[in-house]
Amino acid sequence: MTRPRIPQVRPTLDGREAEAAARTIRDNWITEGPASREFARQLNALIDVPYGVFAPNGTLALALGLMALGIGPGDEVIVPNMTFVGSATSVLLAGGTPVFVDVDGETFQIDVTAAERAVTVRTRAIMPVHLYGSACDMRAVSACAARHGLKIIEDAAQGIGVTFDGRPVGGLGDVGCFSFFADKTLTTGEGGYVTCRDPAIHDRLLLLRNQGRRDRGSFVHPAIGYNFRITDVQAAIGLIQLTKLPSIIERKQRIWQAYRRRFASAAGLRVLAPIAGSNYVPFRCVVITEHAPELTRHLETCGIETRAVFYPLHRQPCFEALRDHEPARFDDRQYPNSIGGAEQGLCLPVYPDLSDEEVDYVADAVLDFIAQQ
Ligand SMILES: *Cc1c(COP(=O)(O)O)cnc(C)c1O
Repeated sequence: MTRPRIPQVRPTLDGREAEAAARTIRDNWITEGPASREFARQLNALIDVPYGVFAPNGTLALALGLMALGIGPGDEVIVPNMTFVGSATSVLLAGGTPVFVDVDGETFQIDVTAAERAVTVRTRAIMPVHLYGSACDMRAVSACAARHGLKIIEDAAQGIGVTFDGRPVGGLGDVGCFSFFADKTLTTGEGGYVTCRDPAIHDRLLLLRNQGRRDRGSFVHPAIGYNFRITDVQAAIGLIQLTKLPSIIERKQRIWQAYRRRFASAAGLRVLAPIAGSNYVPFRCVVITEHAPELTRHLETCGIETRAVFYPLHRQPCFEALRDHEPARFDDRQYPNSIGGAEQGLCLPVYPDLSDEEVDYVADAVLDFIAQQ
């Protein structure tokens, strides 16, 4: 008998999401309506913020947040070099320029000392990315932002349920952005959310996301805006997902702890852990080994799907024009930790539906490989 392949991610869905989506359709209200209002209310309570608006996905949530902060042509935004490409392309979408800084070699979170060095007269904002289920050091980020008069836009796409000093991430800067893509801790298929505390920013978010007007029925548009709305079908799915969130988080943590226990004495294998002051809602279980490519191949033959650690942004082919414009900012020597992380890191699955037996199977496969080195 062959074992079914273990995928990298699987959303935690059951009949309840299907029923909630169907109910929305039967109720004949599929654009933003009662379910969206309730989903937003519960998200604000969870993230501990007064305001939040939806966006179609995490990338557009970041772009919307940047626009609401007034980021535009000529403005630089500091972005960690190890993150999903959407963190940087959202800055381009808003008209600004992403400026990359390395991450810490131990934690893979933004290196705020490197951010300090990257500040210029054009820097307007810093985008801390809460990566792989840990918060980044928001005390250091906030101090840096205060020193240089920068806005803070948190990329909390992977950060629902993550806290720093006991406070939820995504509510610690000027705006916070979440993604509800299928591989995130809470999913609505596609979806995004932008939080803020300042009523003036909230007002700009509302105008920007709804065609520059406050009332849907009017064809008079006082401001330039776009359509960043979602549907109540997604919100209804999100409301069910929120009821599961505590158990999703607990199961992910248990799986990660099981891996960590199993790998505790494996020579040359490190498990990425949260920073001091952060709880942990593992997005993936990132392991670091000099033999990452070989381990990836070994696990593939065992029917276990891995994922690479994010490719360094400064090397991305899509940013060639930025590189040609300012080659000094794209020098490999500035990014040893994100380069090293991409070469030596790989992601093991931690989705809640993994059984204990499957977790053991994955851990056995990793340890078999390490024992042969
Ligand atoms: C998923 C993700 C995004 C983008 O979210 P989408 O909903 O896929 O557009 C941005 N940043 C990080 C760190 C992410 O993990």
